[in-house]
Formats: sequence, C-alpha cells, structure tokens
Amino acid sequence: APLLEIKDLHAEIAGGRKIINGMNLTINPGEVHAIMGPNGAGKSTLSYVLSGKPGYEITGGEVIFRGVNLLDLSPDERAAQGLFLCFQYPLEIPGVSNMAFLHTAVNSQRKKRGEVELTSPELVRKVRELGKTLGIDADMLKRPVNVGFSGGEKKRNETLQMMLLEPYFCVLDEADSGLDIDALKVVSNGVNALRSPERSMLVITHYQRLLDYIVPDVVHVFNAGRIVHTGGKELALELEATGYAQYQSEAA
Ligand code: ADP
Ligand code: MG
Ligand code: MG
Repeated sequence: APLLEIKDLHAEIAGGRKIINGMNLTINPGEVHAIMGPNGAGKSTLSYVLSGKPGYEITGGEVIFRGVNLLDLSPDERAAQGLFLCFQYPLEIPGVSNMAFLHTAVNSQRKKRGEVELTSPELVRKVRELGKTLGIDADMLKRPVNVGFSGGEKKRNETLQMMLLEPYFCVLDEADSGLDIDALKVVSNGVNALRSPERSMLVITHYQRLLDYIVPDVVHVFNAGRIVHTGGKELALELEATGYAQYQSEAA
C-alpha cells in the first residue's frame, strides 16, 4: 500500500485565497519525491496543510497516511503517526533548552504510541551521538531552541530532531535555503542516512542544487496549487535549464 496518498486536495488560507487546487500525489514506502515550482506556487502552504498548522481551511479531498486520514488528526497526533516537517523558517523557542525540547518531543511521541519513554541519560547519549554526526556541540544543545542560531545551525538542528524522532514520512521545505555548501552537505548526509525501505520523503525546493545531494526517485512540477507534470530525477536538471514557464500552459 502507498505510505501517503493525497487525493484531490483543496485548501485555502482561512478567510482568504484558495491556494491548493485539486492536488493528487501518491508516495510509496522508501520513495523520495521532489516538488519543484516557482515562488508563490503554494509549496509551503502544502507543507503547512500537511502539518495541521492553524489558519488554513481544507475545502476538499483527503490525505491518507499509513491508513488514516491525516486531516482528521491534531498536529500532535500527526507527528505521533510518524509525520515530520522541516520548515522553511524553523520556529524559535526562547526559554526552552534544545535538549529539554528534544526530550519532551521524543517522549510525548513514544507515550502516544504506547512505547517505553527514554530516560534522561538514554536521551542525552543518543542526542550527543547524533549531534556529533551533524556538527552540533554541547553548547548548542544547552541553548534555547533555535534562538540566535544561524540558518545553517537551524537546519542542522532540525535534522537532529528528525534523526531522533525516526519518522515514517519527512517533508523538507526549502531545506537548502540559507545554507552554504558545507552545511548543505551535512544536512543532506543526515537526510540520506535516514533513507530506508519504510521511510519516504518529500523534498520541496525552488532550486535544483539540493537534488544533487538528496537524489529523488520522482520529480514533480508544482504550479498554482497542484502537480502539473511528473518525471524522473533528470526532470530537475531539465527544469534548471528551461524554467517552469512551459508547464504553466500544460496546467491551464
Ligand atoms: P511557495 O512556498 O510555493 O513559494 P506559498 O505557499 O508560500 O508559496 O504561498 C502561496 C501563495 O499564498 C502566495 O501567493 C502567497 O503570497 C500566499 N500566501 C501565503 N501565506 C499567506 C497568508 N498567510 N496570507 C495571505 N496570503 C498568503
Ligand atoms: Mg516562497
Ligand atoms: Mg515556500
């Protein structure tokens, strides 16, 4: 069975414009899909709608994830079901240390799944191990979540959260924005280390560059709130050369 099925999804900004416009997408376990599209196409809105962020209204369709309609679940329940989103602009949480945040996040998910919670020493050991592979030191783990972090540090921090939570499905929205090449490699290596036959990913990006590092199985062109064209990984290179304009007419 597919891991995720988006069926004729329609969504708008509450009290505002319609942004997602009859979107269909099927992702099988283990697959990495890329969504590429121009600015303003609705890519980030799609990731917000999948996460359950308030302020969006679903006006049609469904999202079946591991056998349940994701849209019926609270954001917490979605996460416990194994959904993880890396946002274009990661949240800052003043007053909460990174380590404390990770501890709460992991154990609240384990609790919801009926799993044994991690003890403090277990968590600290795990976080330090993963942190090492991402260039995250003890100081960064003590600091408040993302506060004063550089763009690269925020992305590495999100990758740490993702590696720790071991989700079934990861959505990465513009994971390369604000990253220099070294940080891009660290984050991509972390993401690639998570690739497995049970886990799928949706990589949203404006530029082809990221897809040199996270090589997708399938590439979709997204425009005006829906997928207008689908191809293999070579489509990303083609788009880099030709731009998105040719697929606007195909959608219309
Ligand atoms: P993308 O990520 O593809 O660049 P977005 O999903 O961010 O696109 O935005 C899609 C459209 O919705 C854009 O025209 C944007 O201006 C508009 N939009 C996004 N968020 C809001 C909001 N909170 N209020 C009004 N318009 C919004
Ligand atoms: Mg944008
Ligand atoms: Mg965006």
